[in-house]
Amino acid sequence: MKTAPVTRRSDELMARAERLFPGGVNSPVRAFRSVGGSPRVIERAQGAQLWDVDGNELIDYVGSWGPLILGHAHPDVVAAVQRTAEKGTSFGAPNPLEVGLGEAITAAMPSIERLRFVNSGTEAAMSALRVARGFTGRDKIIKLAGGYHGHADGLLVRAGSAAAGIGRPTSAGVTAAMAADTLVAPYNDLSTVANLLADHYGQVAAVIVEPVAANMGVIRPASGYLEGLRQVTTEAGALLIFDEVITGFRLDRGGAQQRYGVRPDLTVLGKIIGGGLPIGAYGGRADVMAVVAPDGPVYQAGTLSGNPLAMAAGLATLQRLTAAVYARLEEYGTVLEAGLKDAANGAGMSVQVVRVGSMLTVFFDDDPRFSRFFHAMLDRGVMLPPSQQEAWFVSAAHGDDELRQTLIAARGAFREEHM
Ligand code: PMP
Repeated sequence: MKTAPVTRRSDELMARAERLFPGGVNSPVRAFRSVGGSPRVIERAQGAQLWDVDGNELIDYVGSWGPLILGHAHPDVVAAVQRTAEKGTSFGAPNPLEVGLGEAITAAMPSIERLRFVNSGTEAAMSALRVARGFTGRDKIIKLAGGYHGHADGLLVRAGSAAAGIGRPTSAGVTAAMAADTLVAPYNDLSTVANLLADHYGQVAAVIVEPVAANMGVIRPASGYLEGLRQVTTEAGALLIFDEVITGFRLDRGGAQQRYGVRPDLTVLGKIIGGGLPIGAYGGRADVMAVVAPDGPVYQAGTLSGNPLAMAAGLATLQRLTAAVYARLEEYGTVLEAGLKDAANGAGMSVQVVRVGSMLTVFFDDDPRFSRFFHAMLDRGVMLPPSQQEAWFVSAAHGDDELRQTLIAARGAFREEHM
Protein backbone atom coordinates (compact mmCIF):
# COMPACT_ATOMS: atom_id res chain seq x y z
CA MET A 1 0.00 0.00 0.00
CA LYS A 2 1.14 3.53 -0.76
CA THR A 3 0.88 6.10 1.99
CA ALA A 4 -1.80 8.69 1.30
CA PRO A 5 -0.59 12.19 0.34
CA VAL A 6 -0.89 15.12 2.76
CA THR A 7 -4.17 17.01 2.25
CA ARG A 8 -4.25 19.24 5.33
CA ARG A 9 -4.94 22.55 3.55
CA SER A 10 -7.56 20.99 1.29
CA ASP A 11 -9.32 19.56 4.33
CA GLU A 12 -9.22 22.90 6.15
CA LEU A 13 -10.64 24.79 3.17
CA MET A 14 -13.35 22.17 2.63
CA ALA A 15 -14.38 22.53 6.28
CA ARG A 16 -14.87 26.26 5.66
CA ALA A 17 -16.57 25.61 2.30
CA GLU A 18 -19.04 23.26 3.96
CA ARG A 19 -20.24 26.12 6.14
CA LEU A 20 -20.91 28.18 2.99
CA PHE A 21 -22.08 25.94 0.19
CA PRO A 22 -24.41 22.93 0.15
CA GLY A 23 -22.05 19.95 0.35
CA GLY A 24 -19.16 22.43 0.34
CA VAL A 25 -19.37 22.77 -3.44
CA ASN A 26 -20.92 24.77 -6.24
CA SER A 27 -21.87 21.74 -8.33
CA PRO A 28 -22.83 18.46 -6.66
CA VAL A 29 -20.55 15.86 -8.22
CA ARG A 30 -17.47 17.77 -7.03
CA ALA A 31 -18.36 16.79 -3.45
CA PHE A 32 -17.07 13.19 -3.83
CA ARG A 33 -20.33 11.82 -2.41
CA SER A 34 -20.29 8.77 -4.66
CA VAL A 35 -16.67 7.88 -3.90
CA GLY A 36 -16.40 9.09 -0.30
CA GLY A 37 -13.62 11.16 1.19
CA SER A 38 -13.06 14.86 0.75
CA PRO A 39 -12.29 16.71 -2.49
CA ARG A 40 -8.91 18.24 -3.22
CA VAL A 41 -9.06 22.01 -3.43
CA ILE A 42 -7.27 23.01 -6.61
CA GLU A 43 -4.97 26.00 -6.69
CA ARG A 44 -3.65 25.99 -10.23
CA ALA A 45 -3.39 23.94 -13.37
CA GLN A 46 -1.21 23.74 -16.44
CA GLY A 47 -1.50 21.42 -19.42
CA ALA A 48 -2.55 17.97 -18.19
CA GLN A 49 -1.66 18.74 -14.55
CA LEU A 50 -3.51 20.06 -11.53
CA TRP A 51 -1.92 21.17 -8.27
CA ASP A 52 -3.95 21.12 -5.09
CA VAL A 53 -3.47 23.63 -2.27
CA ASP A 54 -1.14 21.19 -0.47
CA GLY A 55 1.13 21.13 -3.53
CA ASN A 56 0.22 17.61 -4.68
CA GLU A 57 0.52 17.24 -8.45
CA LEU A 58 -2.24 15.35 -10.25
CA ILE A 59 -2.65 14.16 -13.83
CA ASP A 60 -6.12 15.42 -14.70
CA TYR A 61 -8.76 13.39 -16.55
CA VAL A 62 -11.64 15.64 -15.48
CA GLY A 63 -10.67 18.52 -17.75
CA SER A 64 -13.22 20.76 -16.02
CA TRP A 65 -15.81 18.14 -17.13
CA GLY A 66 -15.02 18.49 -20.81
CA PRO A 67 -14.16 22.03 -21.93
CA LEU A 68 -10.38 21.84 -21.69
CA ILE A 69 -9.56 19.89 -24.83
CA LEU A 70 -6.28 21.81 -25.18
CA GLY A 71 -5.40 21.26 -21.52
CA HIS A 72 -5.29 23.80 -18.73
CA ALA A 73 -4.09 27.37 -19.22
CA HIS A 74 -3.10 26.91 -22.86
CA PRO A 75 -0.86 29.93 -23.54
CA ASP A 76 -2.84 31.03 -26.61
CA VAL A 77 -6.14 30.84 -24.76
CA VAL A 78 -4.74 32.71 -21.76
CA ALA A 79 -3.27 35.39 -24.03
CA ALA A 80 -6.57 35.79 -25.88
CA VAL A 81 -8.45 36.24 -22.61
CA GLN A 82 -5.89 38.74 -21.30
CA ARG A 83 -5.87 40.78 -24.51
CA THR A 84 -9.63 40.83 -24.57
CA ALA A 85 -10.11 41.67 -20.88
CA GLU A 86 -7.97 44.77 -21.27
CA LYS A 87 -10.53 46.09 -23.75
CA GLY A 88 -13.51 45.45 -21.47
CA THR A 89 -15.19 42.29 -20.23
CA SER A 90 -18.78 42.82 -21.29
CA PHE A 91 -20.56 45.43 -23.39
CA GLY A 92 -24.14 44.24 -23.56
CA ALA A 93 -23.87 45.09 -27.24
CA PRO A 94 -22.79 43.22 -30.36
CA ASN A 95 -19.04 42.57 -30.51
CA PRO A 96 -16.76 41.25 -33.27
CA LEU A 97 -15.66 38.15 -31.32
CA GLU A 98 -19.17 36.69 -31.21
CA VAL A 99 -19.34 36.98 -35.00
CA GLY A 100 -15.98 35.21 -35.23
CA LEU A 101 -16.95 32.36 -32.92
CA GLY A 102 -20.39 32.03 -34.52
CA GLU A 103 -18.79 31.69 -37.95
CA ALA A 104 -16.25 29.15 -36.66
CA ILE A 105 -19.07 27.02 -35.24
CA THR A 106 -21.34 27.17 -38.29
CA ALA A 107 -18.38 26.35 -40.55
CA ALA A 108 -17.59 23.24 -38.49
CA MET A 109 -21.21 22.13 -38.05
CA PRO A 110 -23.19 22.70 -41.25
CA SER A 111 -26.50 21.73 -39.60
CA ILE A 112 -26.20 24.95 -37.57
CA GLU A 113 -27.38 27.67 -39.91
CA ARG A 114 -28.23 30.19 -37.19
CA LEU A 115 -27.32 30.13 -33.51
CA ARG A 116 -27.60 31.98 -30.23
CA PHE A 117 -24.95 32.14 -27.50
CA VAL A 118 -25.95 31.68 -23.86
CA ASN A 119 -23.94 31.07 -20.67
CA SER A 120 -24.23 27.37 -19.88
CA GLY A 121 -25.24 24.06 -21.36
CA THR A 122 -28.28 24.07 -19.10
CA GLU A 123 -29.46 27.35 -20.53
CA ALA A 124 -28.80 26.15 -24.08
CA ALA A 125 -30.80 22.92 -23.71
CA MET A 126 -33.66 24.69 -21.94
CA SER A 127 -33.80 27.32 -24.69
CA ALA A 128 -33.59 24.79 -27.53
CA LEU A 129 -36.64 23.01 -26.14
CA ARG A 130 -38.56 26.27 -25.87
CA VAL A 131 -37.69 26.95 -29.50
CA ALA A 132 -38.81 23.45 -30.52
CA ARG A 133 -42.12 23.97 -28.72
CA GLY A 134 -42.54 27.44 -30.19
CA PHE A 135 -41.79 26.22 -33.70
CA THR A 136 -43.99 23.12 -33.65
CA GLY A 137 -46.77 24.40 -31.41
CA ARG A 138 -46.50 21.12 -29.46
CA ASP A 139 -45.89 20.65 -25.73
CA LYS A 140 -44.28 17.27 -25.16
CA ILE A 141 -40.67 16.26 -25.52
CA ILE A 142 -38.94 12.89 -25.46
CA LYS A 143 -35.66 12.40 -23.65
CA LEU A 144 -33.68 9.25 -23.07
CA ALA A 145 -33.22 7.72 -19.64
CA GLY A 146 -29.78 8.45 -18.29
CA GLY A 147 -29.36 11.43 -20.63
CA TYR A 148 -28.40 14.68 -18.92
CA HIS A 149 -29.17 18.01 -20.48
CA GLY A 150 -28.61 20.35 -17.57
CA HIS A 151 -30.89 21.11 -14.66
CA ALA A 152 -33.88 22.87 -16.24
CA ASP A 153 -37.11 21.63 -14.63
CA GLY A 154 -38.53 19.59 -17.48
CA LEU A 155 -35.22 17.85 -18.06
CA LEU A 156 -34.69 16.52 -14.55
CA VAL A 157 -36.84 13.58 -15.42
CA ARG A 158 -36.27 9.98 -16.22
CA ALA A 159 -38.46 6.92 -16.28
CA GLY A 160 -39.20 5.50 -12.86
CA SER A 161 -38.50 2.03 -14.21
CA ALA A 162 -37.04 0.54 -17.32
CA ALA A 163 -40.45 0.97 -18.92
CA ALA A 164 -41.05 4.04 -20.99
CA GLY A 165 -43.80 6.40 -20.13
CA ILE A 166 -44.67 9.67 -18.49
CA GLY A 167 -41.64 10.99 -16.72
CA ARG A 168 -41.44 11.40 -12.98
CA PRO A 169 -39.24 14.12 -11.52
CA THR A 170 -35.83 13.02 -10.31
CA SER A 171 -35.39 16.20 -8.30
CA ALA A 172 -37.49 17.63 -5.54
CA GLY A 173 -38.88 20.99 -6.60
CA VAL A 174 -39.80 19.88 -10.12
CA THR A 175 -43.56 19.91 -10.47
CA ALA A 176 -45.47 16.89 -11.67
CA ALA A 177 -46.91 19.13 -14.39
CA MET A 178 -43.42 19.96 -15.74
CA ALA A 179 -42.45 16.31 -15.67
CA ALA A 180 -45.66 15.22 -17.37
CA ASP A 181 -44.65 16.85 -20.65
CA THR A 182 -41.39 14.90 -20.67
CA LEU A 183 -41.67 11.40 -22.08
CA VAL A 184 -38.79 9.04 -21.45
CA ALA A 185 -37.42 6.12 -23.44
CA PRO A 186 -34.39 3.93 -22.76
CA TYR A 187 -31.23 4.92 -24.63
CA ASN A 188 -30.42 2.86 -27.73
CA ASP A 189 -34.00 1.58 -27.96
CA LEU A 190 -35.49 3.00 -31.14
CA SER A 191 -38.80 1.15 -31.08
CA THR A 192 -39.81 2.72 -27.75
CA VAL A 193 -39.23 6.20 -29.18
CA ALA A 194 -41.24 5.26 -32.27
CA ASN A 195 -44.06 3.95 -30.06
CA LEU A 196 -44.10 7.11 -27.94
CA LEU A 197 -44.25 9.25 -31.07
CA ALA A 198 -47.17 7.14 -32.31
CA ASP A 199 -49.01 7.13 -28.96
CA HIS A 200 -48.66 10.91 -28.67
CA TYR A 201 -49.07 11.65 -32.34
CA GLY A 202 -48.99 15.36 -33.15
CA GLN A 203 -48.00 16.26 -29.57
CA VAL A 204 -44.23 15.76 -29.46
CA ALA A 205 -42.16 18.85 -30.23
CA ALA A 206 -38.74 17.21 -30.10
CA VAL A 207 -36.57 14.29 -29.18
CA ILE A 208 -33.43 15.40 -27.35
CA VAL A 209 -30.49 13.02 -27.20
CA GLU A 210 -26.81 12.96 -26.32
CA PRO A 211 -25.62 11.32 -29.54
CA VAL A 212 -22.91 9.57 -27.54
CA ALA A 213 -24.24 9.21 -24.00
CA ALA A 214 -21.70 10.57 -21.53
CA ASN A 215 -23.65 11.11 -18.32
CA MET A 216 -24.24 7.48 -17.42
CA GLY A 217 -20.65 6.66 -18.27
CA VAL A 218 -19.73 6.69 -21.95
CA ILE A 219 -22.19 4.64 -24.01
CA ARG A 220 -21.95 4.39 -27.77
CA PRO A 221 -25.02 4.80 -29.93
CA ALA A 222 -26.06 1.40 -31.30
CA SER A 223 -25.54 0.99 -35.00
CA GLY A 224 -28.40 2.69 -36.84
CA TYR A 225 -29.83 4.29 -33.68
CA LEU A 226 -29.12 7.93 -34.53
CA GLU A 227 -30.21 7.39 -38.15
CA GLY A 228 -33.37 5.77 -36.80
CA LEU A 229 -34.10 8.71 -34.51
CA ARG A 230 -33.65 10.99 -37.51
CA GLN A 231 -36.19 9.00 -39.47
CA VAL A 232 -38.89 8.58 -36.83
CA THR A 233 -38.76 12.23 -35.76
CA THR A 234 -39.04 13.41 -39.36
CA GLU A 235 -42.01 11.12 -39.91
CA ALA A 236 -43.72 12.42 -36.76
CA GLY A 237 -43.04 16.09 -37.51
CA ALA A 238 -40.95 16.36 -34.34
CA LEU A 239 -37.54 18.03 -34.23
CA LEU A 240 -34.39 16.06 -33.50
CA ILE A 241 -32.11 17.85 -31.03
CA PHE A 242 -28.55 16.66 -30.51
CA ASP A 243 -27.12 17.69 -27.17
CA GLU A 244 -23.47 18.03 -28.15
CA VAL A 245 -22.44 19.94 -25.02
CA ILE A 246 -19.83 17.24 -24.46
CA THR A 247 -19.32 15.77 -27.94
CA GLY A 248 -19.23 19.06 -29.90
CA PHE A 249 -15.64 19.73 -31.00
CA ARG A 250 -14.56 16.76 -28.84
CA LEU A 251 -15.20 13.84 -31.19
CA ASP A 252 -14.24 15.94 -34.18
CA ARG A 253 -14.69 19.55 -35.21
CA GLY A 254 -18.14 18.62 -36.42
CA GLY A 255 -18.97 16.67 -33.26
CA ALA A 256 -20.98 13.46 -33.14
CA GLN A 257 -23.14 14.62 -36.02
CA GLN A 258 -20.08 14.58 -38.25
CA ARG A 259 -18.74 11.31 -36.84
CA TYR A 260 -22.04 9.47 -37.32
CA GLY A 261 -23.27 11.41 -40.37
CA VAL A 262 -26.67 12.38 -38.95
CA ARG A 263 -28.03 15.92 -39.28
CA PRO A 264 -30.16 17.13 -36.36
CA ASP A 265 -32.61 20.03 -36.61
CA LEU A 266 -31.15 21.74 -33.55
CA THR A 267 -27.86 21.33 -31.70
CA VAL A 268 -27.02 22.25 -28.13
CA LEU A 269 -23.41 23.22 -27.39
CA GLY A 270 -21.31 24.32 -24.43
CA LYS A 271 -17.97 23.46 -22.80
CA ILE A 272 -15.26 23.40 -25.54
CA ILE A 273 -16.74 26.30 -27.53
CA GLY A 274 -15.96 28.53 -24.53
CA GLY A 275 -12.41 27.30 -24.00
CA GLY A 276 -13.01 26.95 -20.24
CA LEU A 277 -15.08 30.09 -19.73
CA PRO A 278 -18.84 30.00 -19.09
CA ILE A 279 -20.74 29.41 -22.33
CA GLY A 280 -23.52 27.59 -24.10
CA ALA A 281 -25.10 27.86 -27.53
CA TYR A 282 -28.06 26.49 -29.38
CA GLY A 283 -28.72 26.60 -33.08
CA GLY A 284 -29.76 24.76 -36.18
CA ARG A 285 -32.17 25.11 -39.08
CA ALA A 286 -32.67 28.73 -40.09
CA ASP A 287 -36.45 28.31 -40.36
CA VAL A 288 -36.59 26.93 -36.81
CA MET A 289 -34.27 29.58 -35.35
CA ALA A 290 -36.45 32.25 -37.00
CA VAL A 291 -38.88 31.89 -34.08
CA VAL A 292 -36.29 33.29 -31.63
CA ALA A 293 -36.73 36.89 -30.40
CA PRO A 294 -36.40 39.50 -31.75
CA ASP A 295 -37.13 37.82 -35.11
CA GLY A 296 -39.91 35.68 -33.69
CA PRO A 297 -42.17 35.03 -30.69
CA VAL A 298 -39.93 32.75 -28.57
CA TYR A 299 -38.32 34.90 -25.90
CA GLN A 300 -34.77 34.21 -24.74
CA ALA A 301 -32.16 36.72 -23.57
CA GLY A 302 -28.99 37.06 -21.51
CA THR A 303 -26.99 39.88 -19.88
CA LEU A 304 -23.62 38.23 -20.42
CA SER A 305 -24.48 36.18 -23.51
CA GLY A 306 -21.81 36.42 -26.21
CA ASN A 307 -19.48 38.12 -23.73
CA PRO A 308 -16.07 38.85 -25.22
CA LEU A 309 -14.04 36.78 -22.74
CA ALA A 310 -15.84 33.52 -23.45
CA MET A 311 -15.87 34.30 -27.18
CA ALA A 312 -12.12 34.96 -27.21
CA ALA A 313 -11.28 31.81 -25.25
CA GLY A 314 -13.57 29.75 -27.46
CA LEU A 315 -12.18 31.16 -30.66
CA ALA A 316 -8.57 30.61 -29.55
CA THR A 317 -9.48 27.02 -28.69
CA LEU A 318 -11.33 26.20 -31.90
CA GLN A 319 -8.52 27.69 -33.99
CA ARG A 320 -6.14 25.09 -32.57
CA LEU A 321 -8.38 22.06 -33.10
CA THR A 322 -6.74 20.68 -36.23
CA ALA A 323 -7.06 17.20 -37.69
CA ALA A 324 -3.67 16.44 -36.15
CA VAL A 325 -5.03 17.21 -32.67
CA TYR A 326 -7.94 14.79 -33.13
CA ALA A 327 -5.60 12.12 -34.50
CA ARG A 328 -3.37 12.50 -31.46
CA LEU A 329 -6.34 12.36 -29.05
CA GLU A 330 -7.54 9.18 -30.75
CA GLU A 331 -4.09 7.66 -30.47
CA TYR A 332 -3.77 8.51 -26.77
CA GLY A 333 -7.28 7.18 -26.16
CA THR A 334 -6.51 3.93 -27.95
CA VAL A 335 -3.36 3.27 -25.94
CA LEU A 336 -5.02 4.33 -22.67
CA GLU A 337 -7.97 2.01 -23.29
CA ALA A 338 -5.74 -0.96 -24.12
CA GLY A 339 -3.43 -0.23 -21.19
CA LEU A 340 -6.31 0.00 -18.73
CA LYS A 341 -7.73 -3.32 -19.95
CA ASP A 342 -4.30 -4.95 -19.63
CA ALA A 343 -3.81 -3.52 -16.15
CA ALA A 344 -7.20 -4.82 -15.04
CA ASN A 345 -6.63 -8.25 -16.57
CA GLY A 346 -3.18 -8.42 -15.01
CA ALA A 347 -4.79 -7.93 -11.60
CA GLY A 348 -7.54 -10.45 -12.34
CA MET A 349 -10.23 -7.74 -12.34
CA SER A 350 -13.14 -7.73 -14.71
CA VAL A 351 -13.94 -4.25 -15.98
CA GLN A 352 -15.34 -2.86 -19.20
CA VAL A 353 -13.70 0.09 -20.86
CA VAL A 354 -15.94 2.03 -23.24
CA ARG A 355 -14.26 4.72 -25.29
CA VAL A 356 -15.22 7.04 -28.11
CA GLY A 357 -12.29 9.20 -29.19
CA SER A 358 -10.91 11.10 -26.20
CA MET A 359 -13.73 10.22 -23.79
CA LEU A 360 -13.92 6.95 -21.90
CA THR A 361 -15.38 5.21 -18.89
CA VAL A 362 -14.09 2.21 -16.96
CA PHE A 363 -17.16 0.32 -15.78
CA PHE A 364 -16.68 -1.76 -12.64
CA ASP A 365 -19.06 -4.47 -11.41
CA ASP A 366 -20.14 -2.27 -8.53
CA ASP A 367 -19.71 1.24 -7.13
CA PRO A 368 -17.58 0.30 -4.06
CA ARG A 369 -15.01 -1.17 -6.45
CA PHE A 370 -14.94 2.04 -8.43
CA SER A 371 -14.56 4.10 -5.25
CA ARG A 372 -11.55 2.07 -4.14
CA PHE A 373 -10.00 2.36 -7.60
CA PHE A 374 -10.69 6.11 -7.69
CA HIS A 375 -8.92 6.70 -4.36
CA ALA A 376 -6.05 4.39 -5.24
CA MET A 377 -5.53 6.43 -8.43
CA LEU A 378 -5.82 9.73 -6.56
CA ASP A 379 -3.22 8.58 -4.03
CA ARG A 380 -0.97 7.83 -7.02
CA GLY A 381 -1.44 11.31 -8.49
CA VAL A 382 -4.20 10.70 -11.05
CA MET A 383 -7.43 12.69 -10.82
CA LEU A 384 -10.38 10.80 -12.31
CA PRO A 385 -13.97 12.04 -12.35
CA PRO A 386 -15.28 11.21 -8.86
CA SER A 387 -18.18 9.12 -10.16
CA GLN A 388 -18.43 6.07 -12.34
CA GLN A 389 -21.25 7.73 -14.29
CA GLU A 390 -18.90 10.33 -15.78
CA ALA A 391 -16.49 10.36 -18.70
CA TRP A 392 -12.74 10.67 -18.38
CA PHE A 393 -11.49 13.35 -20.76
CA VAL A 394 -8.11 13.31 -22.48
CA SER A 395 -6.67 16.62 -23.65
CA ALA A 396 -4.14 17.56 -26.28
CA ALA A 397 -1.76 18.35 -23.43
CA HIS A 398 -1.68 14.71 -22.30
CA GLY A 399 1.60 13.34 -23.58
CA ASP A 400 3.57 10.11 -23.47
CA ASP A 401 4.79 10.82 -19.92
CA GLU A 402 1.25 11.24 -18.61
CA LEU A 403 0.16 8.10 -20.42
CA ARG A 404 3.01 6.07 -18.93
CA GLN A 405 2.43 7.43 -15.41
CA THR A 406 -1.32 6.84 -15.67
CA LEU A 407 -0.85 3.21 -16.65
CA ILE A 408 1.72 2.61 -13.90
CA ALA A 409 -0.78 4.08 -11.44
CA ALA A 410 -3.60 1.96 -12.90
CA ARG A 411 -1.59 -1.27 -12.54
CA GLY A 412 -0.95 -0.42 -8.89
CA ALA A 413 -4.53 0.67 -8.26
CA PHE A 414 -6.11 -2.41 -9.84
CA ARG A 415 -3.80 -4.67 -7.82
CA GLU A 416 -4.55 -2.79 -4.61
CA GLU A 417 -8.27 -2.80 -5.36
CA HIS A 418 -8.17 -6.54 -5.88
CA MET A 419 -6.57 -7.28 -2.52
N1 PMP B 1 -25.75 18.63 -21.67
C1 PMP B 1 -24.81 17.71 -21.46
C2 PMP B 1 -24.69 16.56 -22.39
C3 PMP B 1 -23.94 17.84 -20.36
O1 PMP B 1 -23.02 16.90 -20.15
C4 PMP B 1 -24.07 18.95 -19.52
C5 PMP B 1 -23.15 19.16 -18.32
N2 PMP B 1 -22.20 18.25 -18.09
C6 PMP B 1 -25.06 19.88 -19.79
C7 PMP B 1 -25.89 19.70 -20.87
C8 PMP B 1 -25.26 21.08 -18.90
O2 PMP B 1 -24.24 21.98 -19.11
P1 PMP B 1 -23.85 23.05 -17.96
O3 PMP B 1 -23.26 22.27 -16.83
O4 PMP B 1 -22.88 23.96 -18.65
O5 PMP B 1 -25.11 23.74 -17.58
